[in-house]
Amino acid sequence: MQLYKNHTLRVHNSLTGKKEVFKPINEGHIGMYVCGPTVYSNVHLGNCRTFMSFDMIFRYFKHLGFKVRYVRNITDAGHLENDADEGEDKIAKKAKLEQIEPMEVVQRYTVDFHETLQKFNFLPPSIEPTATGHIIEQIEIIKEIIENGYAYEVNGSVYFDVPKFNESNDYGKLSGRKLEDMIANTRELTAQGDKKSPQDFALWKKAEPQHIMRWPSPWGDGFPGWHLECTAMSTKYLGETFDIHGGGMDLKFPHHECEIAQSEASTGKSPVKYWLHTNMLTLNGKKMSKSTGNNIYPSEMFTGENDIMSKAYSPAVVRFFMMQAHYTSILDLSDDALQASEKGYYRLMDALECVDSLKTGATSDFDYKAWQQKCYDAMNDDFNTPILIAHLFEAVKRINLIKEGKESIIKEDKSLLQTTLNNFVHDILGVENQKTTKDDTSALSGVMELLIELRNEARANKDFATSDKIRDELTALGIQLKDGKEGTTFSTNQ
Ligand SMILES: [Zn+2]
Repeated sequence: MQLYKNHTLRVHNSLTGKKEVFKPINEGHIGMYVCGPTVYSNVHLGNCRTFMSFDMIFRYFKHLGFKVRYVRNITDAGHLENDADEGEDKIAKKAKLEQIEPMEVVQRYTVDFHETLQKFNFLPPSIEPTATGHIIEQIEIIKEIIENGYAYEVNGSVYFDVPKFNESNDYGKLSGRKLEDMIANTRELTAQGDKKSPQDFALWKKAEPQHIMRWPSPWGDGFPGWHLECTAMSTKYLGETFDIHGGGMDLKFPHHECEIAQSEASTGKSPVKYWLHTNMLTLNGKKMSKSTGNNIYPSEMFTGENDIMSKAYSPAVVRFFMMQAHYTSILDLSDDALQASEKGYYRLMDALECVDSLKTGATSDFDYKAWQQKCYDAMNDDFNTPILIAHLFEAVKRINLIKEGKESIIKEDKSLLQTTLNNFVHDILGVENQKTTKDDTSALSGVMELLIELRNEARANKDFATSDKIRDELTALGIQLKDGKEGTTFSTNQ
């Protein structure tokens, strides 16, 4: 269904600093690119929040009936330490430390990334390309930029000429910086290494003999600069100009600024219509940092094995917690906040579970159509999930009143309520009912009770063929029966 035809969506565009009406380049289609992780360590919660925000946005677009091509890359080469042009490659450094191949590092942490996102109930992106899989495309872009006069080669490395580019373009327009200010702030510094100007950035770096991750190029063996991969992969899969580019706020400068410069210098076109940036996740009011110990990994949250939280929190509760803040606001993670979210989560799940059994009456005491519209209005206003969740709790209140016999609802409204809740909670916010696992267990217990009873009857009738069959087939399914004084019990391998 092309629901989008009935909705006007507004998004906060970082490029203009304004909330704008969202109009895709091709009606009904959306191209969205999000900078993915550099896979040299376990994914941290701050990154999860960024990717979760775009997962929610992806889900909402799909719900509205758009055809979305969502590209989220994996950075498996070229990202140097401190995001600068000097220093070691983050992945190569980890490989040396652990004495394994760089591609083993990449594999290990890509697997961790996918496993974590799966626990959080992410939808996979449409394409998940890697930097090392697009070296040829990156080399081609460098050639174009050199040809257009915005890059130069020195000693086997190629640099983007920022001052030259800024003569005819606006370098700094996304992050709100001016090149003159950047130059003034770095007056004392001379350009590092081979660069003509300290603001220039690497498109291609010459590989020193000890550098393991290297590829041949027209300028000798080397590796691409970090910013270039996103330009290469977004252009390849979404075209020279596409709808949405997203990422964490910390990527605005230099990463996204450089992406704009690279695209404009190679194609002459502005690459992105709407830039969307997510805000930070803090922990107990402070920036998360491994070195200060103010840090917690997703797996530590789920198991409860950490010194920061009083208990374990399920991925669905953590996801619900993150959805309670707007993606452009700073969100602070704390034990108290999570406990409050957990309570809310269970109230919401309980209400969802009992909608089906609500008795319907001759009248409705609440305008459910208007309520549904408010839910859409919240999402249409730059994906305002906290407001949406407030409306969802309005529905929870109604459900409980109907349950207690204090309000009534007609059949059509009940069905609208049920569909709308399912759409927003499960499909759009991506919050799963992890209480279902509990129900699965109780269903299994019921079935097992029945089987044990049948087996006892067979044994009482000396029908050992049937009683053995029940036991053996269950063993084959990974369920063990144990006969004891108190009767028969069962255990599973899971
Ligand atoms: Zn990127």
